[in-house]
Amino acid sequence: MNSQNQQFEKNILPLVILDNIVIFPRVVLPLILKKPESLAALEYAMQNEKMVVFMVQKGHGEGFYDVGTACRIIQMLKMQDGSIKAIVEGMNRVKIKEFVQKTPFFKIKTEPVMAEVSDNMSVQALMRSILSQFRECVNLGKIVPLDVLMAIFSVRDPETLVDLIVFNLDLKIEERQRLLETTNNKKRLEELHNFIAREIEILKTGQKLQKETAKKLGKMSKEVFLREQLKSIEKELGIGEERDEIKELKKALKKAQMPKPVEKTAMSELARMEKMPSFSPEVSYIRTYLEWLKDLPWSKKSNSPINLKKAEKVLDQDHYGLGKIKERVLEYLAVQKLVGKMKGPILCFIGPPGTGKTSIGKSIARALGRKFFRMSLGGIRDEAEIRGHRRTYVGALPGRIIQGVKTAGVRNPVFMLDEIDKVGTDFRGDPTSALLEALDPEQNNTFSDHYLEVPFDLSDVMFITTGNILDTIPHALRDRMEVIYFPGYTDNEKFHIAKNYLIPKLLKEHGFKAQNLLITDAALRKIIQEYTREAGVRNLEREIAKICRKTARQIAEGKKRIHKVGLDDLSKFLGPVKFQLNHSEKKDEVGVAVGLAWTEAGGDILSIEAIKMPGAGKLILTGSLGKVMRESARAAFSFAKAKIGQSYQNQDVHIHVPSGAIPKDGPSAGITMATALVSVLTEKPVNHEIAMTGEVTLRGQVLEIGGIKEKVLAARRAGIKQIIMPKDNKKNLEDIPKDVRRQMDFVFVDHMDEVLKRALIEK
Ligand code: ADP
Repeated sequence: MNSQNQQFEKNILPLVILDNIVIFPRVVLPLILKKPESLAALEYAMQNEKMVVFMVQKGHGEGFYDVGTACRIIQMLKMQDGSIKAIVEGMNRVKIKEFVQKTPFFKIKTEPVMAEVSDNMSVQALMRSILSQFRECVNLGKIVPLDVLMAIFSVRDPETLVDLIVFNLDLKIEERQRLLETTNNKKRLEELHNFIAREIEILKTGQKLQKETAKKLGKMSKEVFLREQLKSIEKELGIGEERDEIKELKKALKKAQMPKPVEKTAMSELARMEKMPSFSPEVSYIRTYLEWLKDLPWSKKSNSPINLKKAEKVLDQDHYGLGKIKERVLEYLAVQKLVGKMKGPILCFIGPPGTGKTSIGKSIARALGRKFFRMSLGGIRDEAEIRGHRRTYVGALPGRIIQGVKTAGVRNPVFMLDEIDKVGTDFRGDPTSALLEALDPEQNNTFSDHYLEVPFDLSDVMFITTGNILDTIPHALRDRMEVIYFPGYTDNEKFHIAKNYLIPKLLKEHGFKAQNLLITDAALRKIIQEYTREAGVRNLEREIAKICRKTARQIAEGKKRIHKVGLDDLSKFLGPVKFQLNHSEKKDEVGVAVGLAWTEAGGDILSIEAIKMPGAGKLILTGSLGKVMRESARAAFSFAKAKIGQSYQNQDVHIHVPSGAIPKDGPSAGITMATALVSVLTEKPVNHEIAMTGEVTLRGQVLEIGGIKEKVLAARRAGIKQIIMPKDNKKNLEDIPKDVRRQMDFVFVDHMDEVLKRALIEK
């Protein structure tokens, strides 16, 4: 020892200040050094005696301790980031005698720190005691490398014993430094003795905590385990009575301004959660529940009164035509304004796709300054989808209504429920009653969601429902709705919608200027007539979007800046014509009559075929016929037989309705089927340029039917010029735009005889 000390006594050595490591003699350890002055000091050392003194920084920037350890550099590695990794071995304790150099790194003249040897007996006793304490530490789970352990238990020299053990204890910097500085042998051992005793206490407490938690949780996941340990430690230290999470939740719940009873529920749930051990799965359920409560817009509202002038302006701005519909909407809003609250029936928009239902709903929201939220009810069969699952279910959530309100973020959005005609019923319960509760202004101020358990006030929500057909909507719901029909557009209306709304919108969406793309009027009409056949404008929008995309690509490739799309360019952009079939090109046939159907997609033409074959006078029905339609076919058959007389008794007749335009079930194909039957039985062909619609009775009376506007528009689309319809439907012609009325010929009848007279061609 001393010889070593003397050896370096006169030495002048570079000094490196470390941040948080106190190095003791006899210990080998790796260091990473980054500071430029440290690097310089090390470089210098490597070129000289490979010796460096390490001292440690005091806390709070108060300079450094002036006792450290002179170390030998065993190995030095330059890292890629410029830092140095050095393996050093502590040699002996030194003190600063004098600074020799301050920059670029410290150089000091050192002075050895000599041990004062005290009386041997007590030193020996202390050493023995320390060793047995250290053994206890290891038994309590302290991890010490095997070779170090062997070294410690074979030491005879008190200095070395302290140096080796200190390195393996959990001590603060100041404590380590104190041990480094203490020169009296016995005092050093005593101090070490105290530190080990403390460490034993800590280890014992840790073990106790571990046992406690282990007992509580059995086989819980690691994360939960750690959380619990944290909690036990907090308890042991007496902190964290109210953890941050709970505090924050509480604050957020207060901020949500819920009704008093709801807040009471929330607070009692919060209290319950607080008491539970955090590993309990229920804690996370309650947390999710409380988060729902905090996120719901209990009192958040968009605030703007109904302004009818503005509403009218917005509706006109956003939509071409639809005069009657806009009027109905405005009347509805006027009533709301007078009544003050949404107490009236809710609006229900019925019509084929692409006829502007959603778009009118959005405009209403815009006009009222409210948020708009839209959700589809299609295919819902389960009550829980509307009203949520009880919280006892695993993974339970509120139903779609409450989810929607949360997403909207206010308690008075315009809430559109699409496909109300596609809600089903089965063993999982009837969603209708839950829907009723949500929609009915009489009871929806306390809508109860199974998950929430507390009532939510939906009475400020403006519900609008939409669907394609009315028939499949449950009666209970229908009764509470004010139905507005969206019958579809004429070609002319479509033309204007495309020109003034769809094209400008699409140009903007594709980042064009108005002059980039010009679709000629003739081309636009051709797209409407030969590339789409629909009541709405959805496919029309799609086809125009296709042109926009292709043009965008050409512009992006720098080919041309201005594109004009005329008649001849269409096939290039959209491929071959899709609906070339012009009905007038077909020919008159026996047993084929053209009917008009009202389908979910608006109206359509429908050719009904009949053939006869030898048999026993039976009727065979195939194709997509509903119950009412089958009944109607039977009536038509009876009428036809009565009309023709006995001579065809030994014939079977087969009627087929092609499924191409899946018609809604109903009686309105009656006169068409009767015509086809009489035609086939008398072998007189049917005029293919006439389409017909009407219910027929056994005696041949023709009765009023629905969906006139849709049917007329469909006939017009298919190029049919003459329509036979019941006399009682004459009044419905008012709904049909003048330009269409002018182009078509309507025949009003009240008996089958008149139909047959017009439709059958005498040989
Ligand atoms: P629906 O909800 O009835 O299926 P949408 O409201 O989605 O139909 O309408 C389809 C597209 O046609 C939308 O881009 C819409 O803005 C447009 N549109 C429909 N009707 C009109 C109209 N009368 N005036 C202007 N644009 C319309």
